[in-house]
Amino acid sequence: MQSWDGLRLGLLALGYSKVVWIHLHCARHGLFRLGIAGEQECYPCPTCEQACKVSVVAEGFTRQPLPFKPELIVPALSRKTMHDLLAEPRIAKPRRVPDVHHGGKLRRGIAEYQPACDSRPRGRVVRSGAMPDL
Ligand SMILES: [Zn+2]
Repeated sequence: MQSWDGLRLGLLALGYSKVVWIHLHCARHGLFRLGIAGEQECYPCPTCEQACKVSVVAEGFTRQPLPFKPELIVPALSRKTMHDLLAEPRIAKPRRVPDVHHGGKLRRGIAEYQPACDSRPRGRVVRSGAMPDL
């Protein structure tokens, strides 16, 4: 069996040139497959010309002029899907409500004694002058 290197040299001699098939993903225009002359990390999107990250999917030889016409494999996301994906995650945070149960009570001065079920440190209990000190 002929070695790949030998085959390659033969093909190059016959006027073939190396082609690298890449997948190019543009966030706005979708996934394209195209054949280019050499490996590259980035390649301009066929539609908007923005440099996009590419991944090499295959190598081969061709006598066709390079680069090949890009072929859209996966169309771009719809405007709505895009919007949903790019939207800030909406994490439901608990609403800031005044702590009526504790804060209000503390501000007004707590009852004359701290019940056993009240887990607040004893020192935080504010005694009010309006209350009789037991
Ligand atoms: Zn694009």
